[in-house]
Amino acid sequence: MVQERYKTFGVNNFRKIPQVTEYLNEEQQFAIEVVGNVLPFKVNTYVLNQLINWENVPDDPIFILTFPQKDMLSAAHFEAVADALNSEVSKTELKEIVNEIRLQLNPHPAGQMELNVPEIDGYKLTGIQHKYRETMLFFPNQGQTCHAYCTFCFRWPQFVGMDELRFAMKETDLMIKYLQAHPEITDVLFTGGDPMIMSTKRLERYIIPLLEADLPNLKTIRIGSKALGYWPYRFTTDRDADALIDLFKKVKEHGVHLAYMGHFNHPAELETEAVKVAVDRLNEVGVQIRTQSPIMRNINATPEAWATMWRKQVDMGMIPYYMFLARDTGAQDYFAVPLVQAHRIFKKAYEGVSGICRTVRGPSMSADPGKVQLLGETEIAGKKVMGLRFIQGRNPEWVHKPFFAEYDEEAVWLDDLKPAFEDRFFYEEEFDAIKQKEAVVPEPAEAAE
Ligand SMILES: *Cc1c(COP(=O)(O)O)cnc(C)c1O
Ligand code: SF4
Repeated sequence: MVQERYKTFGVNNFRKIPQVTEYLNEEQQFAIEVVGNVLPFKVNTYVLNQLINWENVPDDPIFILTFPQKDMLSAAHFEAVADALNSEVSKTELKEIVNEIRLQLNPHPAGQMELNVPEIDGYKLTGIQHKYRETMLFFPNQGQTCHAYCTFCFRWPQFVGMDELRFAMKETDLMIKYLQAHPEITDVLFTGGDPMIMSTKRLERYIIPLLEADLPNLKTIRIGSKALGYWPYRFTTDRDADALIDLFKKVKEHGVHLAYMGHFNHPAELETEAVKVAVDRLNEVGVQIRTQSPIMRNINATPEAWATMWRKQVDMGMIPYYMFLARDTGAQDYFAVPLVQAHRIFKKAYEGVSGICRTVRGPSMSADPGKVQLLGETEIAGKKVMGLRFIQGRNPEWVHKPFFAEYDEEAVWLDDLKPAFEDRFFYEEEFDAIKQKEAVVPEPAEAAE
């Protein structure tokens, strides 16, 4: 297997990519520049040479997945940035225009900023999110970037230099303290960005102390990553790939289970020799790979794409885990698949695969109160409704209790839905109370006024 030389391109140098000048005209290139100034844009040689089928461009799904597209911005936003670039405004002015637009794109959905940041000893742990009882998310400071960027990414403020919006922490110590104080946590999920962007040495600095702390509650370390999709050499021929595999073995030897939550968006990502070798290598050392992806218009919104992915993943020894719905941020209008349609695609794909692929759950929305799964359309007492349930909830007791919304073909998110038979959904009152409790309590002096 010959490894691609690792080289990345972004908004400042993408015109140096040979395929860009060969396959895209000047207008298309300018559109990339405009949108790439607002949304994250980074692509590497593996994606360019092995995943994108340039004969299919501009409709190629991996091209749309990684290259900014004109329609990802509203016409007004596009024009504002295009005008700025054409009139050669200063860097500072351009930055102001761009930041203004970014703030309008709802950079932190699902109450991430206000609700899920825990505290210990009065210190805010900005690199931790603890939303669901058993699982803590950890955003290692050094893992807040990726081998390439997905154009739909909801974590995009982390990559575009809006620093005050960035989640990150250095302190492994604080994470360990938090885990000691919360024996209900069994899973630590390393996320980002992509933790697999880190060198093995860096990763060791987070993982070894975690193992050495011998936390009786810690059962599983999960690593959420797209490296198998965007840079599989991370596990095979990269300079420190062998050391990485040794680190994974060490985790297992400590009696901690290691789960790789692999992000794959399209069957093309499962086709290369490099990804096959990488998956085999992880399987050999007992790393369990589970797979997940959002459903995205223009990328994978067909039953065939999903059924193919699930079958192929199972063939390769991976476990299909989640189909997500697009979050309400960034270029959501471009990618959004209405809930009803997403469920139909899920159902059609699910119908056509063997039970061994049906470990997948979805379609699921990571909304404020929890992960909400669409169960499908049905009729109750003569009324057309959509069935829903929580897969994860801020209150674990909400989980697996069916509830119903009015049938709505346009709805793309939980907020768009209306309860079918009551004024409010069953969890809403309690959720209000939770939010109230977690909101900042005013200082006594202010409260007295
Ligand atoms: C999805 C998610 C998890 C993990 O949920 P599982 O169903 O256990 O995979 C944990 N925390 C947050 C905030 C999540 O969105
Ligand atoms: S790999 Fe994940 S975090 Fe990185 S750009 Fe894609 S969706 Fe965002």
